[in-house]
Amino acid sequence: MTVTHPALILLLSPWCLALLGLVVGSFLNVVIHRLPQLLEREWLGDVAGYLQDEAAMARVLAGSPARHSELSRQGQALAAEVEALPALSLSRPRSRCPQCGHVLAWHENIPLLGWLRLGGKCSACGSRISLRYPLVEALTGALFAAAALQAGPSAATGVYCAALALLVAAAFVDLDTTLLPDDLTLPLIALGLVAAWQQWTGVSLVDASLGALFGYGSLWVVAFAYKLVRGVQGMAEGDFKLLAGLGALLGWQALPSIILLASAVGAVVGIFMIVARGHGRNVPIPFGPYLAGGGVAALFFGQQLSGLWPGF
Ligand SMILES: [Zn+2]
Repeated sequence: MTVTHPALILLLSPWCLALLGLVVGSFLNVVIHRLPQLLEREWLGDVAGYLQDEAAMARVLAGSPARHSELSRQGQALAAEVEALPALSLSRPRSRCPQCGHVLAWHENIPLLGWLRLGGKCSACGSRISLRYPLVEALTGALFAAAALQAGPSAATGVYCAALALLVAAAFVDLDTTLLPDDLTLPLIALGLVAAWQQWTGVSLVDASLGALFGYGSLWVVAFAYKLVRGVQGMAEGDFKLLAGLGALLGWQALPSIILLASAVGAVVGIFMIVARGHGRNVPIPFGPYLAGGGVAALFFGQQLSGLWPGF
């Protein structure tokens, strides 16, 4: 669906979206850093609450009532500890240097330029600021511009940019923590289905729905088989939901290419980590970044990739 309003045509131009991508990338840095912390705080709070439920402890555990009240006391202490943590949200507190606590001035916080102007060092204490921050910003800017070049001034460009932002956040959160939060994967599924329903992307609602279903199901089957053979969980539910989101966005036809690319690159990197870095075979390798990468490749090179698959 092409847009005709001049302001929208300007907004959806590659240069404009590159700039918007830099700003969004700057926000994604915050999401990547804080979303896992927020979730883990919440889970720890839940654990603390559960430990205080003496009736539940008595149902689950053997042992004396004294043992259950001891767990309850530990739950209370844990809850107090979680409660006492400094307030955190995606918007507060403002970005600061992790070494010295220096709060970034507005001009130090400008995407890409702020980091370049500081020479990659904190203006207060001189400690290095990770290259990750400007890289995530530049990557998001480049992906947004590429989406504009791919789909032109259309609703599809907006959909792809939103999806790419979710994929960048999901990939880096998974890389850092091996978590793939629902807060990132479920919106991708919803976005794909709504975009198909509204005919924004040229993927039919049937293809998108089957994409979500097969995306989830195919990895579920692989994980189930792996668990039967090796006896351990090889993949997490977050991976299923991420591939469901990509299937919803791009249609079920894109799934073979995504899985093939993600597995091939994942296997090469995995073998490299075992051989060159001395990782044990059981060190978990997050699959999310490879799925996200495969999804991005399918988004931009879908036709060329599906050409490798006669019948799709
Ligand atoms: Zn500092």
